[in-house]
Amino acid sequence: MSAITSNALAGKVALVTGAGRGIGLATAQKLCAEGAEVYVNGRNEESIERVVAELVSAGGNAMPLVFDVTDPKAVQSAFKVIHKTSRRLDVLVNNAGVLQDSLIGMTSQQQIDETFATNSFAVIYTSQYASRLMARNQAGSIINITSIIGSTGNRGQTVYAGSKAAVIGMTKSLSKELAASGIRVNAIAPGFIDTDMARSLPAPIFEERVASVAMGRIGAASEVASAVFFLASDLSSYVTGQVLGVDGGMLI
Ligand code: NDP
Repeated sequence: MSAITSNALAGKVALVTGAGRGIGLATAQKLCAEGAEVYVNGRNEESIERVVAELVSAGGNAMPLVFDVTDPKAVQSAFKVIHKTSRRLDVLVNNAGVLQDSLIGMTSQQQIDETFATNSFAVIYTSQYASRLMARNQAGSIINITSIIGSTGNRGQTVYAGSKAAVIGMTKSLSKELAASGIRVNAIAPGFIDTDMARSLPAPIFEERVASVAMGRIGAASEVASAVFFLASDLSSYVTGQVLGVDGGMLI
């Protein structure tokens, strides 16, 4: 967990999707360290139970919420659990995502369906239920993890880029629609962050990406989590509809 904490999220309830590893895990750790009650989502029950046990043993207030974000019925059931158990939701972090590179001629239907279902459609499903819960308190923060690729595009990433560009459009639309309900909606666009997703790239592409970062290094998942914390907390009380780059100067 981060050494610098403020307990700024005490009394807040958060849901982080895809929190079993990578950026989602670092985010769950940070939100717990800042005092939030955190629902830890993932689709693998065993790994989510393990993550929750670790968070709890580190002093966090974490609970498992196992569901597949691509299944609208499962998303609905999960929000029923949040409503029944916590009666509120203050922070939603749409982090779950998949990346499968392929040139356009090699792209399969399954890849298109899975990528858009996970990276784009799921953001709509969770936002529908989260906004209803948040509107009851006239307050909330929705944080969507998009990608630098959603703005710049990339060779071999047409499907992924499209799915992440969609998230930027959703973020801006939702921010306009939900502001009247006291709900802020922002996106974070990570550049190149040290997780399994980044490490799955072939070595030459990995090195090429690192070389394209102005700061000359890959980012840490905890550095994205710190930006999530900013957008989740009242530190960003007048910030909505924005896409915050966390990319070490990859896109300037
Ligand atoms: P990882 O591949 O390390 O982790 C992705 C997480 O999403 C896993 O916990 C995975 O669960 C979960 N997940 C995937 N599909 C589902 C699903 N259907 N339901 C629930 N959970 C699911 O990725 P990162 O941590 O690197 O990425 C997190 C987010 O950040 C993604 O949206 C990604 O696109 C974005 N991003 C990452 C960048 C990077 O450089 N790493 C750069 C830009 C954006 P499981 O363990 O079961 O597979």
